[in-house]
Amino acid sequence: RRQVLEKEFSRINDRQREAVFTVNGPLLVLAGAGSGKTTVLVNRIANLIRYGSAYQDTASQLSEQDIADMQEYLHHDTPLSEITRSHLAVSPVAPWHILAITFTNKAAGELKQRLANMLGEAGSQVWASTFHSSCARILRQFGDRLDYSTHFTIYDSDDSKRLMKNCLKELGVDEKILSCKVVLNEISRAKDTLTTPKAYQQAAGDDNRTATIARAYQMYQQHLKEADAMDFDDLISCTVQLLQENPDVLEHFQKKFRYIMVDEYQDTDHAQYVLIKLLAGTDGNLCVVGDDDQSIYKFRGATIENILSFEKTFPTAKTIRLEQNYRSTQTILNAANAVISNNKERKGKTLWTKNPVGSKIQTHTAINEQDEADYIGKQILEGVADGRKFSDYAILYRMNTQSSALEKNFVKSGIPYRIIGGLRFYERKEIRDMIAYLSVINNASDEMRLRRIINQPKRSIGDKTLAAASQIADQLGESVFYVIDHANEFEPLKRTAPKLLQFAHIMRGFMDMNESGSHTLKELYDKVLEDTNYIASLGNPANLEVQDRISNLRQLESNIQQYEEENGELASLDGFLQEVSLMTDIDNYDDKADTVVMMTMHSAKGLEFPVVFLPGFEDGIFPGVQAIYSPEQLEEERRLAYVAITRAREQLYILNAQSRMIFGSTNRNRPSRFLQEIPEELMEHTAARSWKQPKPGTALPVSSKEVREAAMESALHFGAPQSAQAHKALQFRPGDQVEHRAFGKGMVLSVTPMGNDHLLEIAFESKGTKRIMANFAHLKRA
Ligand code: ATP
Ligand code: MG
Repeated sequence: RRQVLEKEFSRINDRQREAVFTVNGPLLVLAGAGSGKTTVLVNRIANLIRYGSAYQDTASQLSEQDIADMQEYLHHDTPLSEITRSHLAVSPVAPWHILAITFTNKAAGELKQRLANMLGEAGSQVWASTFHSSCARILRQFGDRLDYSTHFTIYDSDDSKRLMKNCLKELGVDEKILSCKVVLNEISRAKDTLTTPKAYQQAAGDDNRTATIARAYQMYQQHLKEADAMDFDDLISCTVQLLQENPDVLEHFQKKFRYIMVDEYQDTDHAQYVLIKLLAGTDGNLCVVGDDDQSIYKFRGATIENILSFEKTFPTAKTIRLEQNYRSTQTILNAANAVISNNKERKGKTLWTKNPVGSKIQTHTAINEQDEADYIGKQILEGVADGRKFSDYAILYRMNTQSSALEKNFVKSGIPYRIIGGLRFYERKEIRDMIAYLSVINNASDEMRLRRIINQPKRSIGDKTLAAASQIADQLGESVFYVIDHANEFEPLKRTAPKLLQFAHIMRGFMDMNESGSHTLKELYDKVLEDTNYIASLGNPANLEVQDRISNLRQLESNIQQYEEENGELASLDGFLQEVSLMTDIDNYDDKADTVVMMTMHSAKGLEFPVVFLPGFEDGIFPGVQAIYSPEQLEEERRLAYVAITRAREQLYILNAQSRMIFGSTNRNRPSRFLQEIPEELMEHTAARSWKQPKPGTALPVSSKEVREAAMESALHFGAPQSAQAHKALQFRPGDQVEHRAFGKGMVLSVTPMGNDHLLEIAFESKGTKRIMANFAHLKRA
């Protein structure tokens, strides 16, 4: 461990070192991509825990031995007495006095991992988490001050949508005129700016639409409260409210978090800013790191002002700029610098690197999205054949829908991949059902989830019965579950009472099991599956879809088990559900497995990969149609391009397609204007066929006739995709010895005709058995 720490500290440059050792008072580290901001944050925490804060008056108490020790660690030429006495102190900071906030769970996990590696046990005691999980943790402790229980449920976006649908119905609002999504977005913005329903209503004035939204907001909050639930935005705004209204709680946390650090500060919104300011107090030890050029969440209410006005908010703040990029080749960095220099709204900074020039950026024009996917697949297989790992590759796209062509190609060619975002595990129906059961077991007043499961599997309990139960509950001031549990006492429920009581009875069984504390969560989960007959209710297990669902339910069981193993004695149903509800897509990304990863450019923030593909660089896709007509949005898209380009360490591919099917219609798009902004000499261009690029401009929709003609033309002259053509001639039989560029030698086990192609099952000598499509396999006879 000592060695790890030593290595880390000895590597950082002088400016980074300065940031690491400036531990008291507000500090802003403002620097471009890959300049080591996150690295500084990690080292700063390590330093605080190892050596402590820089209280000047205690610095003199350093013993000679302390100094010698530090000298050894720091590998620094400046006489230590100077650095030490001005920057370091004797008392180490306890890890629980440190709060480190990052943007994604993935980043938080990485931070924890790095701290644990450097500092062992102490490292894992740091509160390193996202805004949302930190707030959830605070509210679990003091939620009662806001009239919530400490078991409150966290609603995800789907839950919020259902609830809002009910509210709009209740208010008699026609969703065609005012959609659920629009209202929720408005409410989300209101919460970002800490606007209460009341304040919102007052601001609405005579405006009809706003007044309706205000009523919906009011009702939505009321229902949330009744269900003892909070949505994602509430986690932040309620914490702010808690701290503002309860000086003792504020003092508690100000004392607790003596050192606060925030990564990706450029993407904080107003509520998060207020929260940080509250926690840090007036002369707080607050260190924020960020890059104004990477602000990409304006659409979610992030305000770049937070970073630009940091020095004003904290007049004693020190600002440190880092200018050396350690991540990318000169070529990649120059391209990124060139693109971002087209933005007017920026502080402006120069970023340079000592890294090698590296190879040129490969730009490629494909025929369509399948051809684009084919090109990417081929590059990956060739790279792996030359010694790269699959996990060296990332594909970053503007929209989730772009993943499907890639996915199809990868499945067929046997490239292992994972998608971050898109179809998320916890969004699948069967998983949501099970999570709903567990939520109600944990918190019987969670009415929304109770409604979800009461008839799932079918129990012939209708909407009318539920409405009646809900009404009785309202009158009594009890939960709906209470009413169901006492169904035979209420006249309107007499007829369905046996069914309701039966349901309540099994639920009680689960609740008792949970409260007894003598069963594991996995046992509880298995019991729920069994007693509800859920699996049987899915239908015929020979059906592929049913099999899929069952395997998802099994996967959930493994996740529960894994959670229990990780948390030992501290594991609880409450804790598990909290983890689930805070799980953002990025969590499914396990970088230990050797797979290609795909995700949106937004999710890739803070991450880095040796090789990056950026498909869909087309006007109309990236930048999107709307951004093309709004200078402000165009700048935001350009910052996103900057983020995307700077994820690459060694090699960057940028792709566009001549025509693309998106949202059900085919478009012929011009190459992205961002491509034009990259100096010609940094790029090397190839195309699926000789084709003159039209000048960048706006998207041109094409008629289906044109598409047909273009398709005919390419099929006639070039074949689409070419690689598929080249291999079509090869026929395989079981027993054939073959060689695959990436997977090596193998033997064909079976050949199954499928459409115009054949599914091959091949046992590879070193990579195991794979099922791949012959036309995509890039196989040779061995
Ligand atoms: P982003 O803006 O994308 O979040 P960042 O500024 O947080 O980037 P890091 O992720 O901390 O940058 O660092 C980028 C890469 O440079 C990492 O691989 C990191 O290990 C490496 N690095 C950082 N500082 C140094 C250094 N002084 N010497 C060598 N490598 C470094
Ligand atoms: Mg970073």
